Amino acid sequence: MKINHNYDNIKKSYLFSEISHRLRDYTAAHPEADIIKMGIGDVTLPLAPAVVEAMHRAADEMGRKETFRGYVDDNGYDFLINAIKGYYSTFGVDLDYWEIFVSDGAKSDLGNILDLFDADNTVLVTDPVYPVYVDTNVMAGRKVIFSNAAEQNGFLPMPDPDVHADIIYLCTPNNPTGAAYTREQLKVWIDYAKKNGAVILLDSAYEAFITDPDVPHSAYEIEGAKECVIEFCSLSKTAGFTGTRCGYTVVPKALKADGDLNAMWLRRQTTKFNGVAYVIQRAAEAVFSPEGQKQIRENIAYYQENAKILMNGLDRCGIKYFGGKNSPYIWLKCPGGMGSWEFFDKLLEEANVVGTPGEGFGENGKGYFRLTSFSTHEKTAEAMERLYKMLG
Ligand code: PLP
Repeated sequence: MKINHNYDNIKKSYLFSEISHRLRDYTAAHPEADIIKMGIGDVTLPLAPAVVEAMHRAADEMGRKETFRGYVDDNGYDFLINAIKGYYSTFGVDLDYWEIFVSDGAKSDLGNILDLFDADNTVLVTDPVYPVYVDTNVMAGRKVIFSNAAEQNGFLPMPDPDVHADIIYLCTPNNPTGAAYTREQLKVWIDYAKKNGAVILLDSAYEAFITDPDVPHSAYEIEGAKECVIEFCSLSKTAGFTGTRCGYTVVPKALKADGDLNAMWLRRQTTKFNGVAYVIQRAAEAVFSPEGQKQIRENIAYYQENAKILMNGLDRCGIKYFGGKNSPYIWLKCPGGMGSWEFFDKLLEEANVVGTPGEGFGENGKGYFRLTSFSTHEKTAEAMERLYKMLG
């Protein structure tokens, strides 16, 4: 028996354990400290009432002989696939029923999609980045190259015509930087992918936070995208499904490859995945109902108000930042040329506020820091007040 030694090459993920370690040490020494956590990437508001009601109804159906359901249909129940199809049509995107695949969230599909690609592919990832893209490829022994996101390009790197890539990951709006590509910028990536015979794996987990009309909600709003983009979306941040688990992936039939990726993905999923629970798919369907949309929009607006409080607070402190406008994340430049961990310690010790050091997301995160808008209005405002006082 030989184990997969590619796992030896995965970088140790110490970011969140190091944060909790430092926090534990600090609170042990200062038990009276009133800590405000502004670093978590998880939602805090509960599920919308329409979603909970749908789950109750579906649970009751499962308890009656006449309405009980067993194994799920191929790529999801028709009521949910049609709801997702309807949602895409609000962006002017027409998807075929069989291009939409219901999943238990974006993370699983982002990892599992790699089953469709040979190990001998060059993978391009922007840095800083959601670590899943890199780790899943290193696990499979693929070569990963990086495209630098930095202040000079507004944390939105564009393709380098001299660099060849086969698989390209784009996360827009981005975790951790909050930056989002405009239609025009995304079109440049699409043209590059087509020229290189590459596929773009586009993670749109934060699509629901977009406010800028120039930023597309789906890559398929752009001409040519169906030939080279697989899009991953999730109800985690859109509708508070981080613990409920449901998402969707679009694998267009028009994708250009030396095989039928849509048919391969259906085959992969029906072989290795038995679908998302009926109760959860009914809950997800409710997200797309008029009542559900109204309710989830209220929650998103609450988080967006927090983002505004953060942006105003940072402006007042004279701190440079990115994101916030189309995303629940604010990516700030550590003041006074401080390193990410140096700023983390100072903020913890002097303001009792916890955030996420940027270097945990890649080399280019050094000297940057991530704050999230998933707290309450009161705590967010208080955190900004403390930061202002700390900087004197
Ligand atoms: N993609 C990005 C960029 C994320 O930040 C996250 C979660 O934080 C995910 C995907 C995971 O989404 P899901 O909960 O649907 O697995």
